[in-house]
Amino acid sequence: MGMLIDDVELYPVEIENVEEFKIATGTSYTTENLVVKVKSGGKVGWGSGAANGVTEETNESMLKCLKKFKDRLVGKEVEIEEVWSEFREEYPDDPSALAGLDIALHDLKGKLEGKRIFEMYGGREEGVLTDKTIGIMDKEDTVEHAEDIIDEGFKAIKIKVGLEMEKDIERIRAVRETVGPRVLIWVDANQGYTVEEAKHFCDEIDGLNIEFIEQPVAEEDLEGMKEVAEYTDQTIAADEAMKDHISAEKISSKGMADMVNIKLMKCGGLTGGRKIVEVLDDHGVEAMVGCMLEIEQSLSAAVHLFNSSDKIKYADLDGHFLLPEDVCKGFYFEEGKLWTSARSGLGVEPIVNNLDKYVVR
Ligand SMILES: [Mg+2]
Repeated sequence: MGMLIDDVELYPVEIENVEEFKIATGTSYTTENLVVKVKSGGKVGWGSGAANGVTEETNESMLKCLKKFKDRLVGKEVEIEEVWSEFREEYPDDPSALAGLDIALHDLKGKLEGKRIFEMYGGREEGVLTDKTIGIMDKEDTVEHAEDIIDEGFKAIKIKVGLEMEKDIERIRAVRETVGPRVLIWVDANQGYTVEEAKHFCDEIDGLNIEFIEQPVAEEDLEGMKEVAEYTDQTIAADEAMKDHISAEKISSKGMADMVNIKLMKCGGLTGGRKIVEVLDDHGVEAMVGCMLEIEQSLSAAVHLFNSSDKIKYADLDGHFLLPEDVCKGFYFEEGKLWTSARSGLGVEPIVNNLDKYVVR
């Protein structure tokens, strides 16, 4: 059954992060997301898209295409899957904008049907273990951050690397010594190494019990990533090289990585995420779900995706921990795990005052 859309409203928000976030490809200071509101009957669906360097989208670019696309929705009866395909065909380079719209339509559909999103897909409720990420910083600060993260109740830590390999190895070793054997450690190089460096890095961290290494080499170097994956016993995860269900199919069928990092902002939201999971069903490759610098609206959508599929093994959903306060509520972190509220749809609603406070006019 289609949904008759009465209106679409767009709110670009910009929030200064509590600390800078440095990775191999650059440093971020703010979280810029476009909040999308869709109305049908008395119900309202909310979603959000994140500005990010991977898809090279900004609040401005997302606003531009969604303002245009809005005319195709208002006053019409729509199906999510059809909207998704139409938008993607017209705006192939704007997957975060699509994610914002797709998540809002899912929230709306869940509310109209009185179901939580994972229930719409036959999933199960489960707390989702997430890490908290440590950006690139010196060894002492890295260790200090790791101690704080454990004190905050996290059971997993992700360490960003990729600028100086020898220092990276020392930082990881120091964190493992500090946190002990039971904490999960994940590593993300954000394309920072050459193939040879990546191989050496994998050799050096052997024995430190690292769960996986994300995107060791340049995104366009798929053969290089394959070479590293074949060389090492470490689990290699494709992130920047892994955009949507089309690249997931390619990477998994050709054994170019052991795992793929699904991000709703790269693949066009929940519809795109579910397409990736379907593609992976045919291959032995595992999946994780990650995020950009995002508010809770889209992070909760990622939790629903996790809860909708048995194929997703890890969740790296920590963008909102960089925010001094969020513009929405209904999303909880308890004992290392993320939970959405029991309300239908996403389970997350905007905090009107905060939305007003951070909207860029
Ligand atoms: Mg990554």
